[in-house]
Amino acid sequence: MGDLKTSVTSQIHQVRAVIFTDSNSNVNAAKVTDLFESLHVDYKSVEVDVRDDMKEYWDAVADVAKQRPLAKPFVFVGGNAVGGVEETLAAHADGRLGALLGVLPQNEHGGDTLHYDYDLIVVGGGSGGLACSKAAATYGKRVAVLDLVKPSPQGTSWGLGGTCVNVGCIPKKLMHQASLLGRSIQDAKAFGWSVSDNVQHKWEVLVEAVQGHIKSLNWGYRVSLQDKNVKYLNAFGEFVDQHTLKTVNRRGRESVITFGSVVLATGMRPRYPDIPGAKEYGITSDDLFSLRVTPGKTLVVGASYVALECAGFLAGVGFETTCMVRSILLRGFDQQMAEKIGEYMAKEGVWFVRPAVPTKVELIEDGPPRRLRVEFKMLETGEIKTEEFNTVMFAIGRDACTQGIGLEQLGVKMNPKNGQLLTTYEQTNVTHIYGIGDILEGKPELTPVAIQAGKLLAARLYGGQTTMCDYVNVPTTVFTPLEYGCIGLSEEDAISLKGETNIEVYHTSFQPLEWTLPHHDENTCYMKIICDKSDNERVIGLHVLGPNAGEITQGYGVAFKCGATKAHFDQTIGIHPTCSESMTTLTITKSSGDDPATKGC
Ligand code: FAD
Ligand code: NDP
Repeated sequence: MGDLKTSVTSQIHQVRAVIFTDSNSNVNAAKVTDLFESLHVDYKSVEVDVRDDMKEYWDAVADVAKQRPLAKPFVFVGGNAVGGVEETLAAHADGRLGALLGVLPQNEHGGDTLHYDYDLIVVGGGSGGLACSKAAATYGKRVAVLDLVKPSPQGTSWGLGGTCVNVGCIPKKLMHQASLLGRSIQDAKAFGWSVSDNVQHKWEVLVEAVQGHIKSLNWGYRVSLQDKNVKYLNAFGEFVDQHTLKTVNRRGRESVITFGSVVLATGMRPRYPDIPGAKEYGITSDDLFSLRVTPGKTLVVGASYVALECAGFLAGVGFETTCMVRSILLRGFDQQMAEKIGEYMAKEGVWFVRPAVPTKVELIEDGPPRRLRVEFKMLETGEIKTEEFNTVMFAIGRDACTQGIGLEQLGVKMNPKNGQLLTTYEQTNVTHIYGIGDILEGKPELTPVAIQAGKLLAARLYGGQTTMCDYVNVPTTVFTPLEYGCIGLSEEDAISLKGETNIEVYHTSFQPLEWTLPHHDENTCYMKIICDKSDNERVIGLHVLGPNAGEITQGYGVAFKCGATKAHFDQTIGIHPTCSESMTTLTITKSSGDDPATKGC
């Protein structure tokens, strides 16, 4: 019996999940194997009834599991007994399974042995990496964070803090604000202010102010790493073997460091189309926010978050802006809302060319301002057209910075198309290699998500905690000239998931009070909630298009976490006069066919 117990113990430590099963329980076992496959977990099925000592072997499994009677099939994860099929599915639902998958016993992944230079190295000092490294250090671990920005093809690079701080959320939101102020200055006249009709915006002033703010943030991050005892290495990391990284600093100096565990937080960089002139003459969001020359007449290629936000503020501060859309606006978002965003942007001066793709970019005359000729194809007619621009910006998606740094040799599984890592929660298939933030396949690519995942991972690895990052119903906002905030399902997804007869959509147009005096269109802003009729009208989607949608949406994120139903919204008393109060008085359903337009006071 002793030998059999040793055999079972050895089996359950060889791969992350082991299912002991027999021919009677194989059908049930499929529910567990399906689950492990969907989570990309390495698992092994051990068929006990092919053994001559079948009865003794089941006894040994029961002894190791310390469970009698023993459910069949029986599942172990990370060397721990989980239970039968029902227990395993329940453990998945309440997060315990993830905790077991995410935290293997220390001696299994070699995390804390003193002979490594660091207990943990975090590769990437962006939103996720900084949060994770600082959290890990608070548990007394020896932690280093590597961060080095490879210059863009136009030569732009930046300091510590990653995409959000340097070339993402922060400069984007400040430039969005610049464009909103332009609109407010005009509106101010209706409120009694004397404002010249010829108010001018100076791009160089904006860029300088934004870059100054970013520099102060870069400095703050360095100081906070020092305060938390995290070693900051301004160097690029490449894997040499399972526990060794080669680091190369800005001057090309190489070193080697060893680690127990590693967290990859390397983020993503913009993609370029494979057309002549794209890399030579085009820019991306990596360059835009520090562009010292005024963009002038600008073409933005793409139709997702980055493209629409940048096109929005460029037009808002006065540049002639064209957005070239290959197919739909904001793929993955509610399409009714996406089209409303497009309509508003078009009204505010963004010219949309769709469906179309660029085929060539040529330099006509060097600047500043540069003159570029863009050749593009109208996809419905096949017609080839050309137009001149001063700036061409590509926002056609991003690739994860995971390729060519030795992960392939270590066998880390990733999506070959964009380099995103296939993980179970934040653990890759190589047990001591973790990933957080934008580089995870199928997770929202947002700063707060990267931060939350990083902090929780550190707490699980070193703080004995079990809370997993909840990637469901993450609120988000697209900072287009009219902001769009949403949580949960789009109307299309709700219909395909629940069936059209099971959903009810409550909606209304609304007019912010602030829009009345300047006489803006009273039916431009719009909100809707999508309710699951088969579940007490639980709110499964919330969408709002209007000023400050980001601020509005955040609070409803909490309501989603609490499982709010339409009745909860109705029982909530609004704050008057706000836009958000309309969420508490929604009565018009889409199924009624009634007009959701505002009917005056
Ligand atoms: P990053 O912040 O990208 O950090 C990765 C870091 O790792 C970088 O500094 C990189 O240089 C470094 N690195 C890469 N490889 C190596 C290596 N081998 N060695 C050393 N260092 C390496 N999100 C929001 O929530 N709200 C917004 O409003 C918003 N706006 C955005 C606007 C734009 C234009 C863009 C592009 C993104 C925006 N995002 C926004 C997304 C947000 O910026 C990202 O989700 C977030 O920055 C991801 O954090 P991260 O830690 O995964 O990676
Ligand atoms: P996405 O991958 O979301 O979108 C790419 C866009 O480019 C799509 O519209 C796509 O069109 C188009 N496209 C792709 N290839 C081509 C091509 N060859 N020619 C023309 N068009 C093309 O990328 P983003 O860079 O916009 O955003 C990345 C992520 O960053 C977002 O998912 C988001 O999580 C995050 N982010 C968050 C923000 C926020 O919170 N406010 C702001 C900005 C970014 P098609 O639909 O036809 O494929």
